[in-house]
Amino acid sequence: LHLIPLPALADNYIWLLHDDEGDAIVVDPGDAEVVEAALSLRHLRLRAVLLTHHHPDHVGGAASLQQHHAVPVYAPVDERITSATERVGDGDRIELASPAVRFEVRAIPGHTLSHVGYLGNGLLFCGDTLFSLGCGRLFEGTPAQMLSSLGRLAALPGATLVCGGHEYTEANGHFASQIEPDNELLQVRRQQVAQLRADRQPTLPVSLASELATNPFLRVDTEAVTAWCRRRGVIGDRVARFAAVRAAKDVFNG
Ligand code: ZN
Ligand code: FE
Repeated sequence: LHLIPLPALADNYIWLLHDDEGDAIVVDPGDAEVVEAALSLRHLRLRAVLLTHHHPDHVGGAASLQQHHAVPVYAPVDERITSATERVGDGDRIELASPAVRFEVRAIPGHTLSHVGYLGNGLLFCGDTLFSLGCGRLFEGTPAQMLSSLGRLAALPGATLVCGGHEYTEANGHFASQIEPDNELLQVRRQQVAQLRADRQPTLPVSLASELATNPFLRVDTEAVTAWCRRRGVIGDRVARFAAVRAAKDVFNG
């Protein structure tokens, strides 16, 4: 299988996954033309579309692709996603013949209430829930919900490749260093990210193991994040610490 992040819109990635026979799926096609161009260039047949959540930058191209390619569009149960042909929820399995891929659906509310992730073939398509060095904004869910969702993802095997929906890594890294200035693995990752971006390369996918070592939103139980919270007068449980880090990111201008 070949995994390709297609840059789209301002800073989205549409994930393209295809086999050597030319059968492909895409995840979160915010722009149909980007997908059509990639399919033509690589001589691929589109077989399915997977959607993680209802935001236009993730679903905007799905209806057009569905019409032109007559493919199933998998999406969570949410009436705001009108292009869906198959509805999926937590624990559901998706099995495709070509490309030969299997995904398990995980409910991961927080960014939006109906947000799902797709897990399979060592890949995690997590939309706007988990980014490299960051996580999605809480538009609909509570900090407790998002922390629980991130906890479900954090429990996956460390070799899992995180395929998030946006190229936010450089800015996220700047913020992460404010939280954990002494995290050496974070510094190494930020240098790698700076080089990738200088070469116009994507910083995703990234291994979950790397994120567990560097992403402050996955590290609310560490001494470093707890100490940062204490300095800011945040005393309380892990949900309070997560909420404090998320709120600080919301107003961070780096
Ligand atoms: Zn979103
Ligand atoms: Fe988005």
